[in-house]
Amino acid sequence: MVCPHCSYSEIITLKQRTTLGYERFRCRCCGRRFNERTGTPSDRVQQKRQVACAKSTQAAKQAITLYEDFSYLYRCVLAELNVFDRYGNLRDRQQAEEGIKVCLALIEQLKRNAITEAVNKVRRTLPDLFHYLDVAKKVVDEFKALPLPEECLKAYFIAWQWGKAVRKAKKSDRKNTAQ
Ligand SMILES: [Zn+2]
Repeated sequence: MVCPHCSYSEIITLKQRTTLGYERFRCRCCGRRFNERTGTPSDRVQQKRQVACAKSTQAAKQAITLYEDFSYLYRCVLAELNVFDRYGNLRDRQQAEEGIKVCLALIEQLKRNAITEAVNKVRRTLPDLFHYLDVAKKVVDEFKALPLPEECLKAYFIAWQWGKAVRKAKKSDRKNTAQ
């Protein structure tokens, strides 16, 4: 047995074996440690596998992070599209526009071409996108003219929005989180 690093022949056998049960040694010359399989073809195959495994683990982690970031921001965009806030107040058109612009800018920072293209499409629709809030304001004003307590109206608006979200949710798991 010679050291695979410096080819020196004086080596010390270490007490502890590798996790796979191979004998471990230390070189008296260069001081480096190695085992029975260091530098052998099977060792190189395993090293390649470990590198490939580490690379795909990292890629998977990055993909998960991207998905989580996007999914969070997408939910923020959906929230900006709501007609009413969670207390049943009609949302302000200008605020909704500002809010969605912030979301889109953050989504753009994910730096994915396909996503950025979609962001730009949404941006082009922005001037008209929130027109429905103006329409909703007229309807809400009509409701407010009715002799009904404001709390009832607000509860009705929240229920209406929730019902709309449930109808829109195509997958059953989204029905549970509809807002
Ligand atoms: Zn050595």
